[in-house]
Amino acid sequence: MTDERQGLLATLKNQGFAEAERWVDYARDHGFQQIRSQRVSRCPNCGTESHTQIGQYVYYSTLMRLNLCAGCGLAYSDRRIDPLIIRTHFERAYKDEDYFLDRRSRLFDQLARLVDGHAPSGGSVLDIGGAKGHLMAVVQRRRPDLHITISDLSKSACTWAATTYGFKTICSAAGALHVDQVFDVVVMSDVIYYEPEPAKLWTLLPNLVAPGGIVIIRVPNRLLLIRLAQAIRRFVTSKRARDMRDRIMFFNPEHLFIFSRRLLTRRLSSLGFDPVTVWPSELLTPGAQTRRLHTLYYQVARLVHLGTLRRLTITPSLLLVGRRPLPAHRGGVERPSA
Ligand SMILES: [Zn+2]
Repeated sequence: MTDERQGLLATLKNQGFAEAERWVDYARDHGFQQIRSQRVSRCPNCGTESHTQIGQYVYYSTLMRLNLCAGCGLAYSDRRIDPLIIRTHFERAYKDEDYFLDRRSRLFDQLARLVDGHAPSGGSVLDIGGAKGHLMAVVQRRRPDLHITISDLSKSACTWAATTYGFKTICSAAGALHVDQVFDVVVMSDVIYYEPEPAKLWTLLPNLVAPGGIVIIRVPNRLLLIRLAQAIRRFVTSKRARDMRDRIMFFNPEHLFIFSRRLLTRRLSSLGFDPVTVWPSELLTPGAQTRRLHTLYYQVARLVHLGTLRRLTITPSLLLVGRRPLPAHRGGVERPSA
């Protein structure tokens, strides 16, 4: 056996490939590297160990499984790549300006309209995972009166948001945020599935949103589609072929989780947000040829959503808006505490 082959076998065995022999050629073709990762054996949302496997995929030279928690219905990746590698990955990803400025313009407009509609005059907004501040720049153009804060894990993104737009920034992971104020609007757009410990986020959230304020969450809406595609694959392919799968159709391997609409609605309700409403989310801006088709699709999705009394949302992503109620008015004189 060559040294190269031996090295690849050792790497594969360390990185989740039980049947390493079968993957050697694949590893060589894909330039596998040694990557440190940790196994996740319990659901990071509710702690339940029992799960079913949705499928497997390869990411950063590591074989991962997407598990479905039997307790809360969260779909979660069973491996955590070295955080340093992930940090470097996102620093690089943020350099792609065009993606943020052009392709996301429709959803930025939709989110900005939502913020505009809910933020009081001179109110405060926190964009968690707000990257370089492009979304909040759109909000600022609509509502120059708002006080905007951006938090992001990436130092370079925070520096950019502060120097380019003058936003207050907090350079921190979402789950580790320390803020000594509350906000009228908290936005978490396409960010909660990157937070390795979602339980921390849920503890934090009620302390970030002011009474009467709202939280806006945007997440992919693809769990049913992914499970359907996997069920069809199970039906039409052999186990041997499935064991060599390196991707899950419709699933972005960067994401640690897929939160279902049901899970998020329940979670926000349990945190005291009431009401919690769901909306279809605008799509990424398509190329010129398919622009009309996309517009039509989005309008149909809105009609389906309204026609089914908000029960069915068919867009690839959805928005949840939760309001934190004002404290109930208590009449009379407050009793002094003991
Ligand atoms: Zn769970």
